[in-house]
Amino acid sequence: MIDFHCHLDLYPDPSNVAERCEREGIYVLSVTTTPSAWHGTRKLERARIRTALGLHPQLAHERRSELALFDALLPETRYVGEVGLDGAPPFRTHWRAQLEVFDHILDSCASAGGRVLSIHSRRAAKAVLDCLEAVPQAGTFILHWFSGSLSDLSRAVSLGCWFSVGPAMLAAEKGRALAAQFPRDRVLTESDGPFARLGDQPAMPWDAAVAERELAALWNMGTAETASLLRDNLRRLVDLADRDLA
Ligand code: MN
Repeated sequence: MIDFHCHLDLYPDPSNVAERCEREGIYVLSVTTTPSAWHGTRKLERARIRTALGLHPQLAHERRSELALFDALLPETRYVGEVGLDGAPPFRTHWRAQLEVFDHILDSCASAGGRVLSIHSRRAAKAVLDCLEAVPQAGTFILHWFSGSLSDLSRAVSLGCWFSVGPAMLAAEKGRALAAQFPRDRVLTESDGPFARLGDQPAMPWDAAVAERELAALWNMGTAETASLLRDNLRRLVDLADRDLA
């Protein structure tokens, strides 16, 4: 099972969650929201857990001073996230800071030879795609919990973007309609826990299983077949990441 976007460091007991992931053989991309969280979060790494270096768009205005730290840490990882733009009302007021931070990060990734990026694009799909189109050499882009229009989606597909989808996205009709259109060879599952919720509980990495079942139903495929497709996708993505870093 794969959870390609999880805030492992933000659970009340992160080590316990990491241990259970390890026991259950779950592949986890543990994304961070600030560069200063990098070292602490890295301690949660296990055989199948990798840490991504991030600066969340909702924190861009408070943490842009950490861009120097971001650049200093970038050589240590092939994964970047959570980064992107957020156009929802409370954050739109800091749009300029968000753009400055995201553009800087894309340029840094390009200069470093490319990275795998887990990207937030809530209410900002068009603007995110504009940024990505300007710096395609920044690496391989994974749009997490994508919620743009169908025309944004076709633009993202032409750009070579991947998509990570979780149970919360697939619980909504719009999310299901989008996921049905994703290129199946560029899809991974995620939880986005503990921010995303499943019922009245924070989503856990193993809840990616719910997304896996939903995708199987949506794509009219068997569950084993879907699991093996997702695993093949992950393998291809990791190969791309290795190539980027080489
Ligand atoms: Mn997230």
